[in-house]
Amino acid sequence: MEDVDVAIIGGGPTGLAAGLYAARAQRRAIVWERGVLGGQIAITGTVENYPGFADGVEGPILALDMHRQAEHFGMETKYEGITRITREPEGPQFVLEADSGAYRAKSVIVAAGADPVKLRVPGEEEFTGKGVSYCATCDGAFFKDEVVAVVGGGDAAIEEAIFLTRYAAHVYVIHRRDGLRASRILQDRAFAHEKIEFIWNTAVDSIRGDTDVDEVTLRDVHSEQQRTLAVGGVFIFIGHHPNSELLGDLAKLDEGGHAFVNLWMETEQPGLYVAGDVRVDSARQLASAVGDGVTAAIRSEHYLQEQFDSTA
Ligand code: NAP
Repeated sequence: MEDVDVAIIGGGPTGLAAGLYAARAQRRAIVWERGVLGGQIAITGTVENYPGFADGVEGPILALDMHRQAEHFGMETKYEGITRITREPEGPQFVLEADSGAYRAKSVIVAAGADPVKLRVPGEEEFTGKGVSYCATCDGAFFKDEVVAVVGGGDAAIEEAIFLTRYAAHVYVIHRRDGLRASRILQDRAFAHEKIEFIWNTAVDSIRGDTDVDEVTLRDVHSEQQRTLAVGGVFIFIGHHPNSELLGDLAKLDEGGHAFVNLWMETEQPGLYVAGDVRVDSARQLASAVGDGVTAAIRSEHYLQEQFDSTA
């Protein structure tokens, strides 16, 4: 079994920031990433609210730079998922199970992020990749001059609706209420945009088509009346589900699956930290995600010094 000082699950901004700090503290730090490095920013367009980039920065470029910076200081990367974390039956360390084998870790930072929530309507699964998408940056260019629908009313939905106007002829934003959750600056931009049209108080009942998406069935949530809207694509941004399953019963979770931690990202298990979108009460911003990773890494370093260095 390979030994690691700080095992970091998730290669998004939280995990990469934690890896940078742990590596600079001269620890063997490994980040495990089962998908794309950078997490949600890897599939985001221009990031305008990360301090230090006065003209904004492209999400994928920032993600790669964060990774390069952390590796420069010695952080290692494994491109696979961790399926299970357990505590050694005897001894203070953790055992991590991956496809390539098992690892023994002195401390663990879970920064596994969150996956898009699904609408769970007929046609959604069938047409995923054939008109249904959860990433405008990845798929927007396939919808040049087409009419598309965005579902949701949060920051992600509105930001991505604005992004889609680069390609699409018209963008409907379908929202279940009559008010947006998105920040004011995004709302103002969307309301002023000639290509964006809002459909309020409306749910999507089904997504239909032949080989690709052709139309959605909409339902007015007050009158219950249904109608059909012709669209070539459906972009769904209705929130994210935290990837906390791998914690098993090592940490307490709220009803949404977020792990309870204190202000230092500590769980009740000494040496186990949960940071970023997986924890309760996250601000769920890029800057706060980075801060979470740094906080966890600093606390983990204190723990390693107290628990292991003093007895070495
Ligand atoms: P969010 O803020 O939780 O918004 C989810 C939206 O989807 C809400 O409008 C919600 O409607 C709607 N919704 C939820 N379940 C639904 C369902 N089953 N059917 C239809 N609509 C549904 O999620 P998010 O937009 O993904 O943002 C996540 C976090 O990332 C937020 O904290 C956000 O501020 C942050 N973020 C920030 C930026 C930025 O600042 N540039 C960009 C992207 C994301 P209700 O409003 O009715 O609940």
